[in-house]
Amino acid sequence: MRVDVVSIFPDYLAALDLSLVGKARRTGLLDLRVHDLRGWATDRHRTVDDTPFGGGAGMVMRPDVWGRALDDVLPAGGAGHLVVPTPSGEVFTQRHAERLALEAHVVIACGRYEGIDARVAERARAAGHRVSELSIGDYVLNGGEVAALVMIEAFGRLLPGVVGNPHSLVEESHGAAGLLEYPVYTKPPAWEGLEVPEVLLSGHHARIERWRRDRALERTAARRPDMVAALDVAALDKADLAV
Ligand code: SAM
Repeated sequence: MRVDVVSIFPDYLAALDLSLVGKARRTGLLDLRVHDLRGWATDRHRTVDDTPFGGGAGMVMRPDVWGRALDDVLPAGGAGHLVVPTPSGEVFTQRHAERLALEAHVVIACGRYEGIDARVAERARAAGHRVSELSIGDYVLNGGEVAALVMIEAFGRLLPGVVGNPHSLVEESHGAAGLLEYPVYTKPPAWEGLEVPEVLLSGHHARIERWRRDRALERTAARRPDMVAALDVAALDKADLAV
């Protein structure tokens, strides 16, 4: 998979050299390229922004600079998926991550100031690219770089081979079961007077599975009633309904 990130702060993306995403880059599973938007500015000061039409505070990123950048990094023929992080976008979820992980080429356009001139996304759509304007949550950041990191980490770990044991991806929070994950424990079995639940030490596979499912249901009900409301009742078993 190829991913291009365009930003006026490319150094922000240095974290993509670390951990599993960094390893995926080194082994060639992920062809990830970071670009400085100012490379497409044409004036002496490498200007990328200007005052908003209609007045108001702040500056807006210029469409002509972004247009040249995207002409260079989006694939020809409308074959790319342009992601524009913005607090006014659809909220990014695991479903978006799953869809992005299937793409051959994703370009992430990191805004700053008051954001990117709206014609940039419009032009990419008109050229046939898929365009997703996505928010990582209901708060406002200073720029799209942190959002890009979040999204790349979320879809990057879904690429085959990135996470060593693919089974780790199966029972996670926000997976196919529509639940949060159960609580997890490791050694030592007793720590500062706190004991690991006995069932997890029992070696009894079916009891452990039931315990985990019950805790996942309880935790989801307590923390995310919206997720419980969205569960497919037909997919629940009798024991689930007793929790
Ligand atoms: N004026 C914009 C608004 O009110 O919708 C906010 C612009 S914000 C200060 C600057 C940039 O940060 C945005 O263009 C976007 O790239 C990024 N950003 C801020 N909050 C974000 C969020 N919750 N999710 C994704 N990107 C965000």
